Amino acid sequence: MHKADIALVEMTMDIMKYAIDRLSSTKHKIGKPKSEEELKALVGETITEKGIGGEVAFNLWKKHLMKANVPIDHPRHLAFVPASPTRAAIMFDLVTSASSIHGAYWMEGAGGIFCENEAMKWIVSLTGLPKGAFGVFTSGGTAANLSAMVTAREHWRENATFNNEKGLIITSIGAHSSIKAMAKVIDVDVLLIDTEDKLKGIDLQNTINTLSPQQRKRLFAVVATGGTTNAGIIDDLDGIAEVCNSEHLWFHVDAAYGGGALAADSVRHLFNGIEKADSITIDPHKWLFSPYDCGSVIYKNPELAKKAHAQEGSYLDIFKDEGAHGFNPSDYQIQLTRRVRGLPLWFSLAMHGTKRYKQAVERGLKLAKVAGKLIEENPHVELVREPSLSCVLYRRIGWKPDDYTHWTYENHKKGFALVAPTKWKTGNTFETVSRFCFINPDTTKKDIQLILDSMR
Ligand SMILES: *Cc1c(COP(=O)(O)O)cnc(C)c1O
Repeated sequence: MHKADIALVEMTMDIMKYAIDRLSSTKHKIGKPKSEEELKALVGETITEKGIGGEVAFNLWKKHLMKANVPIDHPRHLAFVPASPTRAAIMFDLVTSASSIHGAYWMEGAGGIFCENEAMKWIVSLTGLPKGAFGVFTSGGTAANLSAMVTAREHWRENATFNNEKGLIITSIGAHSSIKAMAKVIDVDVLLIDTEDKLKGIDLQNTINTLSPQQRKRLFAVVATGGTTNAGIIDDLDGIAEVCNSEHLWFHVDAAYGGGALAADSVRHLFNGIEKADSITIDPHKWLFSPYDCGSVIYKNPELAKKAHAQEGSYLDIFKDEGAHGFNPSDYQIQLTRRVRGLPLWFSLAMHGTKRYKQAVERGLKLAKVAGKLIEENPHVELVREPSLSCVLYRRIGWKPDDYTHWTYENHKKGFALVAPTKWKTGNTFETVSRFCFINPDTTKKDIQLILDSMR
């Protein structure tokens, strides 16, 4: 072999060894960020005319750069929405990269897209949407929400009475920030119903009743949340569906975080009404144990999404030809060239079976209950509200906002845990409280008790 080939083989072995170590180790530390200046001082110039060599670059990664990241699958990472990709899915993420598949069109990616679609069929089956409903994997919940909102808006514009009004959507303050952000992208206004608690059909109807005729004409969609990111609250999907139906509004359910819980029999009833949605967002990279990045958007009528999203171009026509017939994921969301990002989920589902997924989601729900009980038993803390899905909001009695911030940084600095405060609105005041979000089935009761102890 040439020297260069030997070096490449060695590099491949090194990288495989690293991946295996990372996957089999259960004791990795919670990393912490450093400033750009600190990192630069540690690694020096890495992009040079001649290159610094793979071994040097990889060593810099292992020694310094990797440690400035938080492994989001750490069992005591309970901040934001953590993650816990299965080993099978991570390994197949490597396979996905190594296979170099263009996932936009069936013509180039039939095998990969077939697998994605098999996984998608299972997700769609969890929603209970009628026959014909289908979806695609996106880069995340933000892209999924955007894709759904564009579809809704384009559908509305086809209405004979449409007269170039600026669109308007209704959601609640419990909705995820991406709804407001994506409304800016498509230049529509958002009316926020002032409740972070469960949004009910009657509240929606009352809000619609207060609109001026001009506003009512601009209103085309309602976004409900299937598990708020902050507190795990599921809106009254059935009631909202009924209002959307009678008012002829597009009904989108953002279940980016909570959607995984559709697999859990113990809470499935809380989502009743989701089967009436026009579109749904579910992030497999949150509660379906996929590596980043993997979101999904599902449509009751995928043809409407195709009308809104399919791109035209003379160099693209070939893909629509005979022999290339099949499902083209790029027709149903905003992205053209795409990774077959549903492939790792497919492999993991195929390997483990759907029952294991149910059990893993139930474990997150159970951990929230266990945490709720521990909080009731420990006198220095108290629940702000009953745990909802896998989110637990609680307060440390006597603490001010600064105490929470300080405590978060201390735990993070020690590499012990990452648990971040949030705000909860009661009446007209926002209170700073602590929050757990459970995803990782490897989190233990002891982990939770240790974190509570660190607040003494
Ligand atoms: C996380 C989340 C999003 C955004 O999803 P990304 O994958 O981060 O883009 C949207 N909606 C809800 C309810 C979420 O929890």
